[in-house]
Amino acid sequence: MKLSSAEILDAIKDELKAKVARPKFDLLISPLFAVSDDEDGLTLGVENAVLRGWVAEQYGKEISAIVERLVGRRVEVAFTVVPGRVPLPDQTQAADSLPPKAVKPRLRPLLNPLFTFDNFVVGPANAFAYSAARGVAEKPGIIYNPLFIYSGSGLGKTHLLQSIAHHLFSANESADIVYITAEKFMNEFIFKVRSGRMHEFHAKFRGCDGLLIDDIHILAGKTETQGEFFNTFNYLHETNKVIVITCDKPPKELRQMDERLVSRFSSGLVTDIEPPALETRIAILQKKAARENIYIPEEVCTFIAENITSNIRVLEGALIKLLAYSGYAAQPVTLDLARRVLKDLLPETVSVQPMSINTIVDVTCDYLKVNRATVLSSNRTKKIAFARQVIMYLARELTNLSLVQVGSELGDRDHSTVIYSCQKIERDLVEDPYVQATVQNILRLVKTG
Ligand code: ADP
Ligand code: MG
Repeated sequence: MKLSSAEILDAIKDELKAKVARPKFDLLISPLFAVSDDEDGLTLGVENAVLRGWVAEQYGKEISAIVERLVGRRVEVAFTVVPGRVPLPDQTQAADSLPPKAVKPRLRPLLNPLFTFDNFVVGPANAFAYSAARGVAEKPGIIYNPLFIYSGSGLGKTHLLQSIAHHLFSANESADIVYITAEKFMNEFIFKVRSGRMHEFHAKFRGCDGLLIDDIHILAGKTETQGEFFNTFNYLHETNKVIVITCDKPPKELRQMDERLVSRFSSGLVTDIEPPALETRIAILQKKAARENIYIPEEVCTFIAENITSNIRVLEGALIKLLAYSGYAAQPVTLDLARRVLKDLLPETVSVQPMSINTIVDVTCDYLKVNRATVLSSNRTKKIAFARQVIMYLARELTNLSLVQVGSELGDRDHSTVIYSCQKIERDLVEDPYVQATVQNILRLVKTG
């Protein structure tokens, strides 16, 4: 009897539940979900790259061994990142009961549950894009097709695009709407060409009820993928299927992009999102705080919103950082604290004693269960590199050391590595709950230990 990937996954979880400590199980094993199982092996999905690194490193071998025992042969087990997932229907069972050709790949795309129209704060800078997106979601393919939304980074393109998807699914649960980044579209295209399975690619992208494609600028210079996208586009457009595209610039500014595509992009409605005005930025912060049940005084919201103007991802990041420090210093979120955190004056002001980088190294290594000497060595495995990045970030935040000094304390690393690490952790603090929890816990321990 052939086991479905869901059955295999259940067995993996059952077995590991008995062996792995509860918090780790809940964090790493329990959220695993099946993405595919075919001749290529079994692919399990995780929500972000950090978790993938951990689960692959710590449990990859054990999981492979369990699968091998279950199916009686060696099976390649891979882990892939699928951010913002929603629970998947068990498609393998359906696949088992039908002849392969008759199965239409109707995998629901994985959407961030927070990226809905309800969670989108509308202001003058994004009102037009918002109502265009709503219009498309309510009357797909009818009003203007395609809808092309462009803006700088962190201004809500992905949020709006996924809101459309959520809306279409709420109107028709079984709608076959494809949400995909242009990068994934390209990777999937290359993979299917190589494996001689273009019929699957065509079935998915031409047979769908609508295509929402994110960050199309990625295709610049990718001639073959552009050609395939052009055909996909025409096919869907002719059959009145909804097409929504996001991009970091207006169509006419796209370079190394097929002229025919550029003119298709401009043929429907083109709209941009501008950086939001102050009132909108305040409203976004308040909405986020309210959603997380946190009280932030109005003057603090105003202060953050006044200082961070051009990117909502960064705006949200500032709020998260402030909350982390408020927890760390056991201080209420006040204007005073906000001022210090945002001015990067944390070392002297929040911490009572100056913090030594040694403490940060010790606590982080201890918390992440990594060896201190390895962290200071040239070892580049994911787990070690992550620990090092966290240490660099905290050292910059909590000590007075310069970039060069932090680099040299951590095994003679270049100051540009320190900058990169700090930026990476800052970004992950916004996007990755696991990194958020890790940094906050280490902050707490650094303070008490
Ligand atoms: P982009 O795709 O343009 O780079 P995103 O859609 O990923 O930007 O938005 C970045 C972050 O800002 C997300 O967390 C998103 O929820 C939030 N965001 C953007 N615009 C708004 C808005 N108008 N209201 C609420 N949150 C927003
Ligand atoms: Mg985006």
